[in-house]
Amino acid sequence: MRVNTWKRAAVAFALALPGAAIAAVVAAPAAHADGCYTWNRTLAQGRSGDDVRQLQIRVAGWAGYRDIVENDGRYGPKTAAAVKRFQQAYGLRADGIAGPQTFAKLYQLQDNDCTPAHFSYSELDNGCGGSGWSGGPISANQTKQNALRTMWKLEALRRSLGDKPLRVSSGYRSRSCNNQVGGASDSQHLYGNAADVTSRTSSLCQVARAARNNGFSGLYGPGYPDHDDHVHVDSRRENNSDRSSNTTSWSAPDCGIGAGND
Ligand SMILES: [Zn+2]
Repeated sequence: MRVNTWKRAAVAFALALPGAAIAAVVAAPAAHADGCYTWNRTLAQGRSGDDVRQLQIRVAGWAGYRDIVENDGRYGPKTAAAVKRFQQAYGLRADGIAGPQTFAKLYQLQDNDCTPAHFSYSELDNGCGGSGWSGGPISANQTKQNALRTMWKLEALRRSLGDKPLRVSSGYRSRSCNNQVGGASDSQHLYGNAADVTSRTSSLCQVARAARNNGFSGLYGPGYPDHDDHVHVDSRRENNSDRSSNTTSWSAPDCGIGAGND
């Protein structure tokens, strides 16, 4: 009731203002282009460097069905295809070349701490009520970098679902936290590579099916043991520090995912 009252008040207020002021009222605050990272050249196939790597982190969620974008700093066909999907998803001219309009959209989506607009480090680092990125099998810095890529993939998933909010119920877990919750001994959660996701506006199967296109090589959901109340997504194929092979592993039988019917 209170929300509706506020909405009505906001609409009445906006209607009373001239056009420019309405835009100021309804527009989200813009992220600063230089708060996190600034690209200084147009990037296209054949380019390489840290600026390509930074781009790859941010388009990793647009890898396409059952695929991933390697974070290797080399702008190959898969990076170009991901950039193209990103451009399509945000209504930009889709040419697979990362130039000013692509960077402008990334700046708009990016917060000053490099996280995407709808996810934050604090959502992913609070395993078992703690915070920070230490206590896992790899360095805290590397864990945090993995978590950043996880968030950009989640941002892509959120966009794919039609801008429907997603909630992260479990992100990074230290070893002690992982033991406490009974996680798998070499869980991707230990590496900052995984998120357990729920939604109030999309069904879990909608989330799971969409996630197949967003660079998640690990995916478990309804019908898989202990995954009827969330969807687990992870980036196991990019993980060279764990003890498992870098292959895709999906199972959400109730959503028709896994065992050959992906
Ligand atoms: Zn999980």
